[in-house]
Amino acid sequence: MCVVNQKGGVGKTTTTVNLAASLAEGGLKVLVLDLDPQGNASTALGIPHDPGTPGTYEGLLDGVPLAELVVDSPEADNLQVIPATVDLAGAEIQLVHMVGREQRLARAIRSYLKDHEVDYILFDCPPSLGLLTLNALVAAGEVIIPIQCEYYALEGVSQLMNTIQVVQRELNPDLDLSTVLLTMFDARTKLSAQVAREVRKHFGEQTLDAQIPRSVRIAEAPSYGQTLLQFDPSSAGAKAYWRAANEIANRGKAR
Ligand code: ATP
Ligand code: MG
Repeated sequence: MCVVNQKGGVGKTTTTVNLAASLAEGGLKVLVLDLDPQGNASTALGIPHDPGTPGTYEGLLDGVPLAELVVDSPEADNLQVIPATVDLAGAEIQLVHMVGREQRLARAIRSYLKDHEVDYILFDCPPSLGLLTLNALVAAGEVIIPIQCEYYALEGVSQLMNTIQVVQRELNPDLDLSTVLLTMFDARTKLSAQVAREVRKHFGEQTLDAQIPRSVRIAEAPSYGQTLLQFDPSSAGAKAYWRAANEIANRGKAR
C-alpha cells in the first residue's frame, strides 16, 4: 500500500507508522519502506538513518536486494523497516537517467516477495509527485490517501487523482485507490466536520469509517522514537489508528 498525498504535513508518515504498528500488533507481518529523504518514518519506528546507512537508496539506485536492507523495528514483533536517509534526496534526479526508472521499486519488491512472506508493505511517500512517489505507485497494489480535515485539504487531490489515473493507464493497471483516511479531525470546529462531509461525499466507499482526531499525543510520539501504540495505547489517536487498521485488514480479507 502506497501512502500518498503530495501536500506536505497531512499525516502520511503518522498514518504509515501507526497503521503498520497496528497491523503488526494484530499479528500480521508488515514491512515499511521509507521513501522520504526526511526519514521521518524511520525515526518514528526507532530505526537509525544517519547518512550512509544502507536503505531505500541502495535498493532503488544500486540494485541491492531489499532483503539485505530490512531491519527489525523495536516497535512491534513482525514489523520491519527499510530506512531512508538524506542520500535519497539525490535519487529523484539520478533516477531520471536510469533505464526503467519508474519500475525500479516494483522490480525490487517483486524479487523480494519471491522468497519472503509479508502481509502488508507500506510505502511512506515524500510530499511530491516526483519519481520516488511514481515508483511507489507503480509497485503498489493499493493507494491510501490521508486527507487533513483543514481548509485546503481538497486542493491538489484532483492532481493526485490524475496522476493515479495515468499510472493505472500506462504503468500499473492493478493499482486500486482503495482507501481515504481523514486525519487531524478536530471535533470542536465546524470546518473539520465540513471537510469530512465533503470527502465522504466524494470518496464514499473508499473513506474509512475511522477518522483520526487531532491530538497532541499523536504529535508527541515520534519525538520518543515510538508509535502511538507504544507511547500511549489508550489514547484516542491510538484507538482510531487501531480501528482504521482493522477496517483495512478486514477489507483485505474480503478480497
Ligand atoms: P510530509 O509531507 O512532510 O512527509 P506528512 O504528510 O508525512 O508530512 P506527518 O509528518 O505525519 O505528515 O504529520 C505532520 C505533522 O503533524 C507532524 O508533526 C505530526 O506529528 C503532526 N500530526 C500528524 N497527525 C496528527 C494528528 N492527528 N494530530 C496532531 N498532530 C498530528
Ligand atoms: Mg512524511
